[in-house]
Amino acid sequence: MAKIIIIGAGVSGLSAGIYAQMNGHNATIYERHFKAGGNLTGWDRCGYHIDNCIHWLTGTNPVTKLYKTWESLGALGNVEVHQGESLFTFEKDGQSLSLGQSIDKFEADMLALSPSDKKEIKAFIRAIKAFQRINGIAGKHNEKKSTSAQKIFAIPAIVGYYGLSTGDLAKRFSHPVIQGFIESMMTDYFSALALVMVFATFTGGNGGIPEGSSEAMAERMTNRFLSLGGKLHLKRGVAKINTGEDCAESVTLEDGSVEKADYVIVATDPAVTFSKLLDKKLMPKKLKKQYEDKKMTRFSSYHCAYACDSAELPFHGDMVIEVPEQYRDVVPADYFLLREFSHEKSFAPKGKNILQSMIYCREDEAKRFISLSRDKKAYKERKQKIATAIMEIIANKYPELNGKLDCLDVWTPATYRRFVNSEIGSWMSFALPPRTLPLMMKNKVKGLKNVILATQWLQAPGGLPIAASSGINAIKTILKREKRRSAG
Ligand SMILES: Cc1cc2nc3c(=O)[nH]c(=O)nc-3n(C[C@H](O)[C@H](O)[C@H](O)COP(=O)(O)OP(=O)(O)OC[C@H]3O[C@@H](n4cnc5c(N)ncnc54)[C@H](O)[C@@H]3O)c2cc1C
Repeated sequence: MAKIIIIGAGVSGLSAGIYAQMNGHNATIYERHFKAGGNLTGWDRCGYHIDNCIHWLTGTNPVTKLYKTWESLGALGNVEVHQGESLFTFEKDGQSLSLGQSIDKFEADMLALSPSDKKEIKAFIRAIKAFQRINGIAGKHNEKKSTSAQKIFAIPAIVGYYGLSTGDLAKRFSHPVIQGFIESMMTDYFSALALVMVFATFTGGNGGIPEGSSEAMAERMTNRFLSLGGKLHLKRGVAKINTGEDCAESVTLEDGSVEKADYVIVATDPAVTFSKLLDKKLMPKKLKKQYEDKKMTRFSSYHCAYACDSAELPFHGDMVIEVPEQYRDVVPADYFLLREFSHEKSFAPKGKNILQSMIYCREDEAKRFISLSRDKKAYKERKQKIATAIMEIIANKYPELNGKLDCLDVWTPATYRRFVNSEIGSWMSFALPPRTLPLMMKNKVKGLKNVILATQWLQAPGGLPIAASSGINAIKTILKREKRRSAG
C-alpha cells in the first residue's frame, strides 16, 4: 500500500484520491482552500445560493462510458439530473434561436429562420449527429450504443470543422441570429469542433445538471473519498515539493510542516506547479510548448449575481444578452450570458429567483482584473460599475424586472486566482483552437519518477470530465508501475 500525497482537492485531485483508495492505496489530499471541489463549487449570500460551475455536465446519459465513471466517483449519487429545456437562447431584433433537447427541432428552427442557409445548416446538423455516434450515443432516444462501423463512418461529417474557429463557422451562415448564436456561446476563437461536441452532448441527453448543481456534486465526491478511507486536510496548502536525485521525497506545507510520500500527485494549475511547487525547468516539454504557443489562449470570466424579487421570470434557461454600445466602456464585450435557476428550488427564497451573468475574458483582461485587485478601492469601484451596468441592461431588456434586482455578489478572475490558485484565474485549460486535436498529454515529470500530474491542463479545453480522467489516469500510471490492473 503506497502512501500518496495529492496536492489540490479539485475534481482532478478528488478523482485521483477516490481511485487511489479504490485500488488499495493510502491517499492524503492537501487543499489550501477551506473546502474541497476547486472550481466545482457554489456559495451562499443573503439566503440565496450562487452556483459557480456546471452549465452542462458531459456524461449524464446512462448509455455513455463517462456516466459509469461519474457513478464510480460518487458524482451523481441518487439525485435527479436536470435536462434543461434549452442549453441557451440567442435573441436579436425580435427573432431568437435556442438549442433545445431535440436536434430535429433545432434544425427546423434554423431552417425556418434562414432557408437560404439550408446547405450549411444540414452540414452542421450532420456533424452534430456524427459526433453523437462517435461518442457512443445513437438512436432516436439515445438508447442504443453505436457500433465501431457507425463511429468510423461518422468521421467525414465532422472533418470540415477541424480547421474552423467558431467565428469562421458563424460567417458561413448569412442570418445574423444564427451567426450570433454560433459565436456568442464560447466566444469566436474556440475550435468549431468544440461547439459541435457541446451541441452533440446536449442534444444527446448527455449534458444535464445533477440536482444541487456544482457544490452538491463536489460534496458527493468529497464524501465518496472520505468514505473510502481517504484523508483530506483543508486550509493546508503545499508550499513546495522537496526533490532528491530522481524523485520527490516530501512536501513542505505552507505551515512549515513536512510530509513524506511514496508518490506525489499534483492537481494544481501547472503555471503555479512549475513556479512555486517545482522548478520551472521541470515543466513537461509539450505543456511548455502550449504555454509558448500564441494560438493557445487562456481565458477566465467575470460574473454578477442578483437577487430577483419575482416568482415569475420573463425568460427560461440561459439567455445570451447583447451589450448595448453605451455600456461597452464598462463592459467591454459583445454579449453576456444570463442564467436563471428556477429549477433549483433551494437556490432562492420562496417566491424569488436568482439571476447570474457571465462574461468571458481573455488573458490580458484577466491580468488587468488581477492587478487592479491590488488596489482594493479601485477594484471595488470597478466591480460596482459592472454590477450596475449589467443590472441596467437586464432591466432595459426585461422591463418587468426593473426595480426587482439587487446585486448579491460580483466575482472576477482575481477571485478565481485567490480561491483556486490559478495563475490568471482560468478555470478551464487552453481554449481549443482550430486545427488542434484534443489529445491527452503524458502526466509524467521527467527526472522525478514518483511525481505525477493530474490536471485538466493535460487536455485542452479542460472541463470536469477531463479533470476526472486526469485524476484516474494518475492512479493508473502508479498501478502500471506496480504491474497491477486497476479496480473501477
Ligand atoms: C464559471 C465556470 C463554468 C464552468 N462550467 C463548466 C461546465 O459547464 N462543464 C464542465 O465540464 N466544466 C465547467 N467548468 C470547468 C470546471 O470547473 C473545471 O474544469 C474543473 O473544476 C477543474 O478541476 P481541477 O481539479 O483540474 O482544477 P481546480 O478546480 O482549479 O482545482 C485545483 C485545486 O487545487 C487547489 N490548490 C491550488 N494550489 C494549491 C496548493 N499549493 N496546495 C494545495 N491545494 C492547492 C485549489 O485550491 C483547488 O481546490 C466551469 C468552471 C467555471 C468557473
